Amino acid sequence: MTQGSHHANSAILLRRRGIVLLLLALCLFIPSRSHALGAAPAPPPQSPAPPAQGSGRKVAIQAGHWKQNELPPELAHLHNRTGTSGGGETEWRVALNVAEMAAKKLRDKSPKYTVEVLPATTPPGYTADAFVMLHCDGNDKNHTIRGVKVAHYDLTKMADADDRLVSSLLTEYMKATGMPKAPDTTITQDMTRHFSFTYIDRQTPAAIVEMGWLTTPEDQQILVHDQPKAALGIANGILAFFGDSPIGSEDDTKPPPDEPPPPSESFWESLQRRFDEWWQKWQAELAARLDEWWQKQQAELTQRFEAWLASAEQQFLAWLETQLNQFFSQLCATAMLPGAVAVALCMRRRR
Ligand SMILES: [Zn+2]
Repeated sequence: MTQGSHHANSAILLRRRGIVLLLLALCLFIPSRSHALGAAPAPPPQSPAPPAQGSGRKVAIQAGHWKQNELPPELAHLHNRTGTSGGGETEWRVALNVAEMAAKKLRDKSPKYTVEVLPATTPPGYTADAFVMLHCDGNDKNHTIRGVKVAHYDLTKMADADDRLVSSLLTEYMKATGMPKAPDTTITQDMTRHFSFTYIDRQTPAAIVEMGWLTTPEDQQILVHDQPKAALGIANGILAFFGDSPIGSEDDTKPPPDEPPPPSESFWESLQRRFDEWWQKWQAELAARLDEWWQKQQAELTQRFEAWLASAEQQFLAWLETQLNQFFSQLCATAMLPGAVAVALCMRRRR
């Protein structure tokens, strides 16, 4: 056996022992890991679900006089009251346009708004979070009277909410259109006792808006030629009633975030992530330590083997020398007698 192959065999033995140690270490750590990973006995705590109800807003915008002839039989006497007209427009068409534009603005503002545009007929017991009727005024004799009027049912059971809705609509409509507020004296019973108020549910906040005089040129400018302004006023009035920011405010122009924020980590997820991080680090460290130890063992073993080999060689050589010495001395001793006899015989023959 050469010195090289002996060394190789020792190295294989040592490597085997290293692998056994590594397996033992893994067996000790794997159970705790699997416990933290999958077999966790307790379910992870759930983050509270968003409230299923209460965040949505149902809004009704009624286009005054639209499909007036479809009013129910008890209102048949109103079938011919199709509203005013002016500037080439009819009241119901202006009301319908503005209602649909305002509805779209609200839907675009937030998906929480469910907006229904209603014709003149109000379903009995109709409920909503806000009910807004749109109309226009007309006066064939006075073409200078102008402005917006907003009122609620004078027999309301929701005075506080109705007052807030009236004031929100008035403020925002004036802001959006630049129209003045019409004198309160022009608010008639046609408004405050409008039949629609008697059909809706008594808990639904409601208001009627006379959006201006369709027969007055200044108001026509908005009602006929700039309906989006009127619609913005109505939509913002409804938003203000619900305490939401107006359309076109910072809230709307803010760009959507690039990435959705990461979902908040549950306790178990956080524990698992931290364990995984620790596990990665620990694995790397273990490998480094094992390598270091292995290098050291190899060096030490080589040194020891060489030392042993050197001493063994020395001992062997010493033993061999002794053996040879003994052999030669015995050989000499045994060869001496026949030699002497042979020499004697030879000498005798010569003689
Ligand atoms: Zn009307």
